[in-house]
Amino acid sequence: MDEKKLAAQQLCQRIQRLLGADASVYCWEPMSRHTTFGIGGPADCFVEVKTEQALRRLWMDCCRKGHEPLIIGAGSNLLVRGGGIRGVVVKLTGVFSAVEVVGERVLAGAAAALKEVASTACMAGLTGLEFAIGIPGSIGGAVYMNAGAYGGQMADVVDRVRVLTEDGDYCEWSQKDLGFDYRRSSLQDGSHVIVRVAFGLHSGDAEQIKATMEDYTLRRAAKQPLDLPSAGSVFKRPPGHYVGAMVEAAGLKGVRVGGAQVSEKHAGFIVNRGGASAKDVLELIELVQTEIRKKYAVDLETELKVVGED
Ligand SMILES: Cc1cc2nc3c(=O)[nH]c(=O)nc-3n(C[C@H](O)[C@H](O)[C@H](O)COP(=O)(O)OP(=O)(O)OC[C@H]3O[C@@H](n4cnc5c(N)ncnc54)[C@H](O)[C@@H]3O)c2cc1C
Repeated sequence: MDEKKLAAQQLCQRIQRLLGADASVYCWEPMSRHTTFGIGGPADCFVEVKTEQALRRLWMDCCRKGHEPLIIGAGSNLLVRGGGIRGVVVKLTGVFSAVEVVGERVLAGAAAALKEVASTACMAGLTGLEFAIGIPGSIGGAVYMNAGAYGGQMADVVDRVRVLTEDGDYCEWSQKDLGFDYRRSSLQDGSHVIVRVAFGLHSGDAEQIKATMEDYTLRRAAKQPLDLPSAGSVFKRPPGHYVGAMVEAAGLKGVRVGGAQVSEKHAGFIVNRGGASAKDVLELIELVQTEIRKKYAVDLETELKVVGED
């Protein structure tokens, strides 16, 4: 066994002993299994954490050793490089998947699927989360990214967030502490784990909420390449422009690098046509950025998060 794999195995054994039944630990876990792109090399130690106590114990242990873990949600905004991730990757599960309706509030664990939380709100006759129905992320990832669609965004509906701070304390942050902006939150500036979110919604007409969600779902299916693996829109929208239209007008629709292709259906997406590597995707991103800069003098900033080593 090579040195890297041996070190990974020792790390996994230590973490499993530390967390016991409160976690499942997977050694040398392919990240391609945990990203909607279906791309990514192995994580040394992939840990599914089931309780708050175990999360704190793991967080403190890793930080003490100088290796902050990477927290992932549904992996729908992530590109993991081919060499994978050294150290610990954490995915929340167990208590972090709970969803509860209390009056006009929905309380959701960070691991809950955004779609499930939006559907729960709909069934309870609560309006506000209609925009979120087709976004394939977790609650944690959605708040971190301030995910949005069809004129709505997480910033409009998040009331409070429970976070594990870099010092290992659980704290409640209010909406104003979260520094929401376009596809941004202040959570991106530090090392915090989102563990639970309280959404402030309003009573509405369940039939109308359902109809709006169905309309958004149809519009999404008509425009987006949902039949192919991707990480959604690759680039943030520059003020005054639409990325898809610019990329299409630059003649880049359908352009390929290896297994990665600028989607033929929506030029703001890059899709994995089979066997794409992170290198293919990154080369294609660079090609698009270069051409758009030449044609429009606009710098496209990536929305997706790129992690791991080559
Ligand atoms: C087909 C498709 C359509 C999409 N449509 C949209 C859309 O309409 N609008 C939109 O905004 N996005 C869209 N996306 C992108 C993506 O779904 C969102 O960005 C989503 O919010 C990411 O959530 P996630 O759980 O998958 O996060 P991940 O991709 O797993 O992680 C994203 C970032 O969040 C961090 N993170 C995740 N969970 C936590 C946590 N608990 N605590 C702290 N940090 C955390 C990660 O470290 C990472 O930096 C789409 C993606 C796809 C594949």
